[in-house]
Amino acid sequence: MRTEISSLGEFGLIDHLTRNNETANAGTLLSVGDDAAVIDQFGRQCVISTDMLVEGIHFDLMYTPLKHLGYKAVAVNLSDIYAMMATPTHITVSIALSNKVSVEALEEFYEGIYAACERYGVDLVGGDTTSSRSGLVISITAIGEVAPDKYVTRSGARPNDLICVTGDLGAAYLGLQLLEREKKIFLENPGVQPDLQQQAYLVGRILKPEPRMDVVEWLRENNIMPTSMIDVSDGLSSELLHLCNKSDTGCVLHEDKIPAHEETRAMAMQFGLSVTTCALSGGEDYELLFTIGQEHYERISQYAHVSVIGYMTEKDQGRYLVTKSGGKHPLTAQGWNAFDQ
Ligand code: ADP
Ligand code: MG
Repeated sequence: MRTEISSLGEFGLIDHLTRNNETANAGTLLSVGDDAAVIDQFGRQCVISTDMLVEGIHFDLMYTPLKHLGYKAVAVNLSDIYAMMATPTHITVSIALSNKVSVEALEEFYEGIYAACERYGVDLVGGDTTSSRSGLVISITAIGEVAPDKYVTRSGARPNDLICVTGDLGAAYLGLQLLEREKKIFLENPGVQPDLQQQAYLVGRILKPEPRMDVVEWLRENNIMPTSMIDVSDGLSSELLHLCNKSDTGCVLHEDKIPAHEETRAMAMQFGLSVTTCALSGGEDYELLFTIGQEHYERISQYAHVSVIGYMTEKDQGRYLVTKSGGKHPLTAQGWNAFDQ
């Protein structure tokens, strides 16, 4: 018998492969199923996460400068460490190379890696290098530290907790659509150089995301301990459903509270897309989605980098998006067909 991977999907596949995963070491505090694992080493807690980027799947070298790619490869890994409310300290970088890549190109790539390491105070401590027949593959492991038991998982949200998200959503997806559009134009007509000056924000969001270290530090300084947290790599609806599934809750998400940048609104209109759909299903925003107790409402609503977008409910109340017109739609991981635009 042969089962196709596509019949399970990414998350189904991970669940399937790790369904019998048992941990034997007392120091394994948190295993598969969160943004990072947590390991206790004689009272110090260490957070570990790993992510792979594959040419043609995650990036296109036609419009991705290698310096940006290096920076982003580190940034997206650190995002998972911050999503545990931990502080990243070390990374390892493994690469598989085709002979298409020159030494000069790799130097640029490492400039980006080192720039991110410097920006976020992380040491590059190792990795692996090998060859590839199908383009560039980058695998980065990030390690961080957290004060004992001060890490935040996906599973601690309670009914009535406020749902919060940092920054704004949907921009990276539109930035990608824009780059794809310009690539097509360029391939058909190599004389035309794209002018993306007007959309610097959108393009910046896809090429050079920044993990939300600032928000994690602010939460710590203000003694606000989220009850659950995840980073937004796949789109708001998918990430919120992860929090609900892991925490055994329902949720109400208010469409009119989902934050979007002006450029995102304008470009969504140009592409004939709904801004909400871009936020729900777009992905690659690398913002943080988290829940907090209602007692923190006043403090958090004064903080410019966070929006309160809904609240958790009892599981049997379901998971819903309340639209601007007051309609109530079940939230699905594929926001595209979930509701009328
Ligand atoms: P994220 O989007 O935060 O990077 P993923 O959806 O990639 O998280 O992974 C979810 C969880 O599954 C994580 O705990 C990750 O470590 C684990 N995981 C992913 N792939 C595998 C695998 N091949 N084997 C074991 N665990 C995996
Ligand atoms: Mg994550």
